[in-house]
Amino acid sequence: MTQLPKPKLRVAVLGAGMSGILAAIRLQQAGVYEVVVFEKADRIGGTWRDNHYPGLTCDVPAHAYTFSFAPHAEWSSFLAPGPEIQQYFEGLVRQFQIESLIRFNQEVSSCVWQNQGWQLQTSSGLQQSFDIVIAATGVLHHLNQPEIKGLDSFAGDCFHSARWDHSVPLQGRRVGVIGNGSTGVQIVSNLAGKASRVVHIQRSPQWIMPYPNPPYSDADRAAFRSDPALIDQIRYSEFYLGLVNRFTEGVADKDSQQMAEIEAVVLNHLETSIRDPAMRERLRPNYRAACKRLIFSPDYFEVVQRDDVEVIVGEIAQIEPEGVRMKDGRLLALDVLALATGFKADRFLRPMTLLGQDGADLALSWARKPSAYLGIAMPGFPNFFMLNGPTGPVGNFSLIDIAERQWGYIDALLAELSSGRAKTLVLKPEVMQDYEARRLQAGKQTIFGSGCSSWYLDSEGAPSTWPWNYQAFAEQTGAPRLEEFERIG
Ligand code: NAP
Repeated sequence: MTQLPKPKLRVAVLGAGMSGILAAIRLQQAGVYEVVVFEKADRIGGTWRDNHYPGLTCDVPAHAYTFSFAPHAEWSSFLAPGPEIQQYFEGLVRQFQIESLIRFNQEVSSCVWQNQGWQLQTSSGLQQSFDIVIAATGVLHHLNQPEIKGLDSFAGDCFHSARWDHSVPLQGRRVGVIGNGSTGVQIVSNLAGKASRVVHIQRSPQWIMPYPNPPYSDADRAAFRSDPALIDQIRYSEFYLGLVNRFTEGVADKDSQQMAEIEAVVLNHLETSIRDPAMRERLRPNYRAACKRLIFSPDYFEVVQRDDVEVIVGEIAQIEPEGVRMKDGRLLALDVLALATGFKADRFLRPMTLLGQDGADLALSWARKPSAYLGIAMPGFPNFFMLNGPTGPVGNFSLIDIAERQWGYIDALLAELSSGRAKTLVLKPEVMQDYEARRLQAGKQTIFGSGCSSWYLDSEGAPSTWPWNYQAFAEQTGAPRLEEFERIG
């Protein structure tokens, strides 16, 4: 008697940004899954689709911000401009032929564990059942629209940095930028010399790490094409990997020598780059370096010393039709106002309704602190795995690398499911409890908790991100411990 082929496991991937693309490629290559990728927008790309503000650059070396299995010789500079990264992902979707797996304009509104499977529903009413869900919905996705009095009364053009309106002319106009995280700093550096005046409004000054961004020449690109080992030399260079290791060792231990080294570099950069002593004091942060996400910039301190750029440090009183009124009474007259005010970093997965075993409700589990073991799994949510989920590493290094490491871990779990050795895998509650206790304890020693406000902190002021170093993450994701998961069926 001929045996019927084993039915393929049905896997839903939520999101077609960087992590979702990784999952789709790997699942397709495995050949044993039926894969559907749900994407709420009409294009792939996630962060790189939504952000296209002038000056957008990834401050991770371009050759390290690529998938290990898809090196790319064509980057125009050491740090890649945002549009090139978007093109890179679009190219991968074509190269790995995953477009047919993606359902565009389908936002998953609910995901419910029923009858040993996940029932998904999208906001347009589509319903489908799956055995496994891979959530790749991103970290910085929901805009932080600042609650500033009078914001709606501004008579000029106003938009959030992640909704940049390119139809608004900038040339010959006075542009104000509120916010000086990585985004605001890149926008100001780019607009200087294009707008007639750039006013950078900062509530708290930032430490700036000087970082070169040399262009690649045609000859460089030809060399990368003909000898991919040259790409690896950058990706795995001591310059980059050494920096990642020292940096994460530093942030994990605020009293470490590595942290002292980072502080010395940024302090020296401030002292030696800003010529006017009064401006230098205005730009001196009153918290420790890397407490907020450290800004890497090749030129910001030069840019702010231009005659057509002004840095205003202080609290905003209100927005008026003519511009921004500061608490000290000054009116900053503006034609365009860009809100580089960041994202609601704790909104992982929400507003989706996610109900797991025995009615476990994600909204309740994450009401105080979103958390997931290694940023991947949660008890109560069987066969549900995340890429770049809460408490995973975020920082000044490649999130692509983090997603690939998490994928390696998830892949080991999927192998159990696809082989039939397990029907359902769910993280044991005691593993999560132990992880969370250790994570919160370790967080106290990190630089993130050393006294500043940032999106690295949860609603209770505790560091919400990975509190250990890069090596610890590599080791823990590199050796999945299947015994930490309960097998059902
Ligand atoms: P962010 O780091 O959260 O910075 C938001 C800025 O807006 C801060 O300066 C904040 O001031 C200010 N702000 C918020 N509300 C305000 C208000 N009501 N009044 C005045 N100022 C207000 O956001 P981001 O710059 O968009 O960056 C977010 C993250 O995206 C980065 O940390 C990074 O992880 C990622 N990113 C990466 C790159 C890259 O090159 N790889 C580039 C851009 C962004 P306070 O500091 O005083 O709160």
